[in-house]
Amino acid sequence: MRAARLHAYGHPLVVEEVPIPEVEDQQVLVAVEGAGFCHSDLHVIDGEIRVLPRLPVTLGHENAGRVARVGRGVKTVREGDPVAVYGGWGCGLCDRCVTGYEQLCRTPRWAGLSEYDGGYAEYLLVPHERYLIRLERLEPRVAAPFTDAALTSYRAIRKALPHLTPGEWALVIGVGGLGQFGIKLLRLLTASLIIAVDIDEAKLALARHYGATYTFSGREADLVQKILDLTGGRGVAASFDFVGSDQTLALALAVTDTMGKVTQLGLAGGTAAMRVLQNTRFEVQFEATLWGTIKELREVLALAEAGLLTPIDLEFYPLEAIHEVYARLKAGKIQGRAVIVPQPAG
Ligand code: NAD
Ligand code: ZN
Ligand code: ZN
Repeated sequence: MRAARLHAYGHPLVVEEVPIPEVEDQQVLVAVEGAGFCHSDLHVIDGEIRVLPRLPVTLGHENAGRVARVGRGVKTVREGDPVAVYGGWGCGLCDRCVTGYEQLCRTPRWAGLSEYDGGYAEYLLVPHERYLIRLERLEPRVAAPFTDAALTSYRAIRKALPHLTPGEWALVIGVGGLGQFGIKLLRLLTASLIIAVDIDEAKLALARHYGATYTFSGREADLVQKILDLTGGRGVAASFDFVGSDQTLALALAVTDTMGKVTQLGLAGGTAAMRVLQNTRFEVQFEATLWGTIKELREVLALAEAGLLTPIDLEFYPLEAIHEVYARLKAGKIQGRAVIVPQPAG
């Protein structure tokens, strides 16, 4: 089968022929019909995030498709079933895994972000059937971005809900794949007033379309003061940084109200420099959230299947176009999410 594999940090993925994996026990082979191209893949390919214990590895952690083959012990899915794939694979045995926080496993086996191959391939070997959620109405290639872009935003917003009582302000920095789902979810789950910040005007137009009340260019001067003025001097109750640079983390901290919460999702390598009485107010919490749980993915897909959480703009590309997708995302030219389609819909 064809697979796009990372052989060395800082070098393009190699699209090459690899064997189709064998299926055992409770494993499931999924024909990949959609693999979302996440900005984390850019960080990994460029060598900014070096989480892979060995190379080469097939990347792709945002996957959905159709069950192609099941191990003998598999009971919950059958060949031909359309499925979304939970990618935060863990050992299944540690304290995190047994309490349901598998993405925070002590020895992570994340799909396409560990020694386990991901979905930029015609087939994906899923280590256990518990990672599969059967799709009802959603097409797999549309469902794929819900397994990371939507799920990661969902967990972060769910964890900040106590701060987002009706009428409070929320700040979203970075309106890309994750941030767009973030704005939609804030609209769906809260009655907060949403401020969105991006450096791209087209993203700000999308932010307003998805329900942001106010938008600002990240390049504006005096942005901190403008946001404080807008919020009557108080600042926002919760800020979500989908970029994670020094500059965006500083903005999030500077405009978050007392008793508020700053959540970092973006992994641009910045430092959250918090200094009380200078740039951080009293009782502000800081958290960097990671992906989501299997249960949270079920909740996100329930919202999507019910038509309450709708997809963002998707662009579909064959596996062979993966280098073009890399370049377009890096240049900021992907409006919503690019989805690699290694196999046409079955
Ligand atoms: P994306 O490329 O689709 O979107 C990034 C957006 O940020 C773009 O709209 C871009 O214009 C905007 N931006 C860039 N610099 C900015 C700045 N200085 N100020 C304001 N806006 C700016 O990326 P994505 O796929 O949505 O991923 C976003 C981040 O989240 C990445 O760093 C990715 O690695 C990370 N991520 C984290 C998790 C997690 O579990 N914590 C999961 C998935 C992705
Ligand atoms: Zn991701
Ligand atoms: Zn574990």
